[in-house]
Amino acid sequence: MASLHYFACGETTHGMHQLLRGASRERRVFPSGVFLYSAGSRRVLFDTGYAPEPWRAGAAGWAYRRLLPPTVPQGVTVEHRLDPASVTHVVLSHLHPDHVGGIRAFPDATIVLTEGLHETLRSPRLREGVLGGLIPPWLEGRATVLPSAAFDASVASGAAIAGLRTADLFGDGSYRLVDLPGHARGHVGALVEDDVLLAADAAWARDLLGEEGRIKPLPRAVAHDSRAQTITAQALLAAERQGVRLLFSHDRHPTGVDLLRGGA
Ligand SMILES: [Zn+2]
Repeated sequence: MASLHYFACGETTHGMHQLLRGASRERRVFPSGVFLYSAGSRRVLFDTGYAPEPWRAGAAGWAYRRLLPPTVPQGVTVEHRLDPASVTHVVLSHLHPDHVGGIRAFPDATIVLTEGLHETLRSPRLREGVLGGLIPPWLEGRATVLPSAAFDASVASGAAIAGLRTADLFGDGSYRLVDLPGHARGHVGALVEDDVLLAADAAWARDLLGEEGRIKPLPRAVAHDSRAQTITAQALLAAERQGVRLLFSHDRHPTGVDLLRGGA
């Protein structure tokens, strides 16, 4: 029986008024979530959360931590949350530090990257927020790269995600990568068993999906393509209306329960 489990691997806290126009001064905690899908002998991890402290990521790391201060107490990083040796595949949604930080724990897993992420890895641009110090030297050469042509617009069987391109990772419909353009170059989600869509950073949180018009200039400038982000958000809202459950990386989800088939 397949299952999907959630683990929080560090967090950051922000004043909502710094992110969105017209928002309250409420400070909200954004955990950095990873999702483990188990089916038969396959164990597929979606993202890896924050890196354990201390980070050795130079001046760029210092600047990142000033802007988005992480809270990563000992024992909360991915290698403490699950047994890294049991993971067969790691899918990275994108290369921001709160998603790629735990990747060092998986030297033996198959690492899946989209073409866009692979290009970012090879030639990162400053505003793409990639901290080279967090990325092990073996990653670029070891990654399995999914070309853009592997994604097509046909509607996944049993689930209406019209307007979003998917790539069937194992050829059996159990785990479809979903192209979610906007947040970062090559940013990707995953539709698990045509039931739950891991939507990564397509929005900071479910209640902020569709609020892209309110995003303040600084966080907007950090997005790879804010127009595409708005279009992606509308497609995700449409999918949700068709019954697909959306799980974002920075919402808090229940732990210790199977999130497939209504577990959320
Ligand atoms: Zn991100």
